[in-house]
Amino acid sequence: SGTDGLVLLGLVPGAPSCPHGPALLFVKTSQGREEGRRFYACSACRDRKDCNFFQWEDEKVSETRIAAREEHNRIHQPAFTHRQNVERYKNFVRLPLPKRRFCQECQQLLLPAEWEKHSDHQFLCDISTAQLKSPSQLLYPLENKKTNAQYLFAGRSCQFLLDLISDLGFQRVLSVGTPRLHEMVQAKASQEYFRIRSLLLDIDFRYSQFYTEDEFCHYNMFNHYFFGGEAALETCRKFLCQDNGERVIMVTDPPFGGLVEALATSFKKLMAMWKETEKVGHNNQEMPMFWIFPYFFESRILEFFPSFTMVDYQVDYDNHALYKHGKTGRKQSPVRIFTNLTPSMIVLPVEEGYRFCTVCQRYVSSGNQHCEICNSCTSKDGRQWKHCALCNKCVKPSWFHCNNCNCCALPNHSCEQTDAGCFVCGKAGHKRVTCPSIS
Ligand code: SAH
Ligand code: ZN
Ligand code: ZN
Ligand code: ZN
Ligand code: ZN
Repeated sequence: SGTDGLVLLGLVPGAPSCPHGPALLFVKTSQGREEGRRFYACSACRDRKDCNFFQWEDEKVSETRIAAREEHNRIHQPAFTHRQNVERYKNFVRLPLPKRRFCQECQQLLLPAEWEKHSDHQFLCDISTAQLKSPSQLLYPLENKKTNAQYLFAGRSCQFLLDLISDLGFQRVLSVGTPRLHEMVQAKASQEYFRIRSLLLDIDFRYSQFYTEDEFCHYNMFNHYFFGGEAALETCRKFLCQDNGERVIMVTDPPFGGLVEALATSFKKLMAMWKETEKVGHNNQEMPMFWIFPYFFESRILEFFPSFTMVDYQVDYDNHALYKHGKTGRKQSPVRIFTNLTPSMIVLPVEEGYRFCTVCQRYVSSGNQHCEICNSCTSKDGRQWKHCALCNKCVKPSWFHCNNCNCCALPNHSCEQTDAGCFVCGKAGHKRVTCPSIS
């Protein structure tokens, strides 16, 4: 696979831009050593089919190519600006129901004058106000695995997150790549007693058809790029500024194939924005955050955010075959919440089997037994783990101690050693493609 042995060097000043903002600098590595020339590639698209931007770091780029690139970047911007989409929405809601059409091919709300142009496209009609308020149901999820990978929360998980956020007393949610949560917050905000607000930051520009500039910013979370420029940045900054003592939490659910390092860098910038806006003084606090990601990325996330802990709650999705809550009983989802809030404050639903461990001072899943030797609830995947006296830690129930490797592993593992750790879990012995955490 393309990213194997690829190391991210990051966002550097003066980097060239593709339609997705400044490109990131990478280098190929072999056995942990840099090998070959450094190069720039698109930050957002890991599939070359989606954006094939490529440039050697030391490459001399001609004036003509720069001009052609600028032209290319211009053409690849959306047909309408966010402002235009807001105006279009205003006109759209004035139409009587029978005239409210949504083109499924173009994923666009249509005004009557545009029907003709879309006459041979599939469309939905009688778009209700309820549908306009649930764009994540109206738009089809972008399921391109490598680039967008839109996995929408199952209703149950989304409701759990919202209840948790409001029980913790937050009144503002910075929703980064969580359109369905944003939508649920908006719905709740329209109820009388609820003054909770959300700002959605997402690369999916289709959402600009449904939200104003105060509710949605076109944003790339891999390079912290606001497509709307300074004005959009200011919107975000204002939202993070906690006037009236309204507390803010950031919730993010990035594509899992994403580069953790690039994400962490952007999230730190958002945290810094929050910190800069302080008037009241957050002292040495961090902006509260929920980062939703698979459990096998725990060590990677903690590398960048040492104050974070992993919560046992299993996040379920609607359109993910593997992770959704089946009819015949629940499949285990590997997706968890990582947070810098005190673990004991994150109350998990007892009716779903979670229980409070008084020793660990946190809620854990039903299968997660407290190990007396480790003195903690050690399971990561929800199954009961077993303690290995030789490894001096708890391991997955399917693992056995291998005297050859001097550690626990699957019975059918091959005992070969590799120097460099796996890109996903950081452990030695295998590469990303064969990582047991993923399969
Ligand atoms: N579970 C969430 C959706 C998560 S899917 C929910 O139900 O609300 C990942 C989300 O991140 C999608 O909305 C996708 O559009 C967005 N996304 C993907 N790449 C992105 C990028 N580079 N920058 C910002 N958002 C991105
Ligand atoms: Zn790009
Ligand atoms: Zn415990
Ligand atoms: Zn143990
Ligand atoms: Zn062992």
